[in-house]
Amino acid sequence: MTLRTLDSLGPLEGKRVIVRCDLNVPLRDGVITDDGRVRASLPTLNALLNAGARVVVTSHLGRPDGAPDPQYSLAPVAQRLSELLGKPVAFARDTVGESAHDAVDSLEDGGIVVLENLRFNAGETAKDDAVRGAFAAQLAELGDVLVSDGFGVVHRKQASVYDLAQLLPSAAGLLIATELDVLDKLTENPERPYAVVLGGSKVSDKLGVISHLLPRVDRILVGGGMLFTFLKAQGYEVASSLLEEDQLETVRGYIAEAAERGVELVLPTDVVVAEKFAADAAHEVVAADAIESTSFGASGIGLDIGPETAARFADVVRSSKTVFWNGPMGVFEFAAFAGGTKAVAQALTEVDGLSVVGGGDSAAAVRQLGFADDRFGHISTGGGASLEFLEGKRLPGLEVLGWA
Ligand code: ADP
Ligand code: MG
Repeated sequence: MTLRTLDSLGPLEGKRVIVRCDLNVPLRDGVITDDGRVRASLPTLNALLNAGARVVVTSHLGRPDGAPDPQYSLAPVAQRLSELLGKPVAFARDTVGESAHDAVDSLEDGGIVVLENLRFNAGETAKDDAVRGAFAAQLAELGDVLVSDGFGVVHRKQASVYDLAQLLPSAAGLLIATELDVLDKLTENPERPYAVVLGGSKVSDKLGVISHLLPRVDRILVGGGMLFTFLKAQGYEVASSLLEEDQLETVRGYIAEAAERGVELVLPTDVVVAEKFAADAAHEVVAADAIESTSFGASGIGLDIGPETAARFADVVRSSKTVFWNGPMGVFEFAAFAGGTKAVAQALTEVDGLSVVGGGDSAAAVRQLGFADDRFGHISTGGGASLEFLEGKRLPGLEVLGWA
């Protein structure tokens, strides 16, 4: 079965349409530092508003503990959404309480309200089906139909994503459709050579994707925190860098399998090692097989790929026809360790084919480093969701929309 789309919901004029968005943007002191996810929600919201629907936007933000926590309020997001839509956006101070009901009842056709953070309610992420179901039932009172458009959360079995979709007529929004189109291109007959670049810090999460990708891709480039587990697996010392000791055997298996399959596994040949984890830390470039030979000895921490590696990664990326990138090459938040990420981002903009950036931090990195969105084939709003899709996992938030 294929995903139910917006037209399956029939005419929406005058209907209360709950839209589950992923407006989980990075905030610093109440100010949005990257509004990419708000922008990504606009096509669906505009389509519904133009159709005369009464739009009820829901989202989570950050990880509050199932109770209201002002630092995670969606109020600044509602404000930004209003600026981007060029029209007033109402804001409810709760998710399913009096304020939400009042705001929804006051909506006119073509009007829009943002409800407060879903995760201010323990039911949203509860493991207990009954608790989650009860919260979903409260949400269901606020709408006639559900449009699920939060791609970043479709791998989660949560009340607003999974349970609610079974209580109301539901369909996927345009963002989910776009994201899946791109992911389909990455999994079905990608133009070759096909390269995947992996980095970031969620090492054990991301190592799993490699076993699924090996049969499908031509090149895998390994940077970020996980590179040290690869170097160690080859017998090199990595000083105090990020290391997953219990993954060494698995990684040796990947190295062997890549060789057997003829997949080019591109590993760093040099690394930037810092004295400590800090923006102003002293640092040295060193060969990948001599990480402990810096003046910091065994206490050095690898925080970026080195310039030789960055140049080689850029060549491999540029000469590929399909590239998926998840995870920064280094600690890009510190200018001294952003070189590898910048070089790879630049190369991605020069790909003659399809280039996709996935992941919250990766997307924020390319924007922060000054690259415009339209220089990439696609910037995915979902990191975990994209990876789980590429791994071939079943995604509960899509299955409830008819996807199989
Ligand atoms: P994404 O959100 O794109 O999926 P992750 O959340 O896995 O990416 O990782 C992003 C983080 O990885 C960044 O904050 C970056 O500082 C960190 N990182 C990259 N390289 C290293 C490294 N060598 N050591 C520690 N952290 C790293
Ligand atoms: Mg992240």
